[in-house]
Amino acid sequence: ITSRLPEVGTTIFSVMSALAAEHGAVNLGQGFPDFACDPALVDAVTHAMQTGHNQYPPMPGIPALRQAVAAKIEALHGRRYDAEREITVTAGATQAILTAILCCVHPGDEVIVLDPCYDSYVPNIELAGARAVRVPLTPGSFAPDFGRIAAAITPRTRLLVLNTPHNPSATVWTAEDMRRLEALLAPTDVLLVSDEVYEHMVFDGAEHQSAARFPGLAERAFIVSSFGKTFHVTGWKVGTVAAPAPLMAEFRKVHQFNVFTVNTPMQHGLAHYLQEPSHYLGLPGFYQAKRDLFRNGLAGSRLRLLPCTGSYFQCVDYSAVSELPEMEFCQWLVREIGVAGIPLSPFYGDGFDQRMVRFCFAKQDETLRAALERLRRL
Ligand code: PMP
Ligand code: GLN
Repeated sequence: ITSRLPEVGTTIFSVMSALAAEHGAVNLGQGFPDFACDPALVDAVTHAMQTGHNQYPPMPGIPALRQAVAAKIEALHGRRYDAEREITVTAGATQAILTAILCCVHPGDEVIVLDPCYDSYVPNIELAGARAVRVPLTPGSFAPDFGRIAAAITPRTRLLVLNTPHNPSATVWTAEDMRRLEALLAPTDVLLVSDEVYEHMVFDGAEHQSAARFPGLAERAFIVSSFGKTFHVTGWKVGTVAAPAPLMAEFRKVHQFNVFTVNTPMQHGLAHYLQEPSHYLGLPGFYQAKRDLFRNGLAGSRLRLLPCTGSYFQCVDYSAVSELPEMEFCQWLVREIGVAGIPLSPFYGDGFDQRMVRFCFAKQDETLRAALERLRRL
């Protein structure tokens, strides 16, 4: 058949996880926790199954979960979403992002992504028949370059995809960054997909600046969250989207013929578990301790640590260790050192290679220590 995505191969995350398994390496590549979620969450889901919550839920998700999500957004960010019309439960952030793009992007449109970006965005845009316009973040700091973003906006620009905290760079947008984006988009009708899956992993006392906090952004935004990240259950594939009613109406038209609905017992379990704010408010401290363990372990090594202010990723510059390009270096690192990371180059349209690797620190401390012992040999 004629491929809809001729440029696309297997994602780098699957490639590196397979290589790590093949060589018995410590896997700090693909972003997922290697520790168990809270047994209370499993109990809540088990209870839902045992009490008969096993048939189709309502198309946009069960009301209790949508209400819990709306209450959480209001408590944290001060914007009130109508649980009935403005929140939808999705099969993870991945489906949320694809559905948001498909529901508003038309063939021939342009969609701005900020490079480096998560690997699903561009294929999603291409499936919608649109053109991805890759605008680089500032090399080195990964800060937004508003001059370049402004210059990329044309009458064809339908949507911009934002991701904060950012995968892979581990940077977060400040309130000032968000205000500048708000001002920049104000005279346009450009929509926003705000990928906030790492919303509860922001460190050093900083706050996550959700698009929900900025009226000029919220009114045009599909805000995407993932319970996989927040509750250490990446395999459950449950997320949510919040958007103003007119946008959500279009989102649901696609959603109902895409997945129709998302598994019922998980929704009941999550609705129950979300009632207790400490289940997510403890996350910054929990992950900051892991970040610090990992960073302290690499201090004094020849790997140069980049700043990490959010997400569960730590990027390093290995140019003092090796001149190999990133992909080859990561393969060498698995085979010879026994640690898997993710090269940054696949997050760029042009394969830009800056001798950087991303490590995931959502791991048990003993896993991190085992990796550190090996990485310190470099
Ligand atoms: N966006 C970003 C930035 C991610 O890192 C991930 C996790 N891989 C996703 C979306 C997808 O999340 P989910 O597993 O909920 O589909
Ligand atoms: N989001 C995760 C990461 O960036 C992995 C997702 C995936 O495997 N597709 O590592």
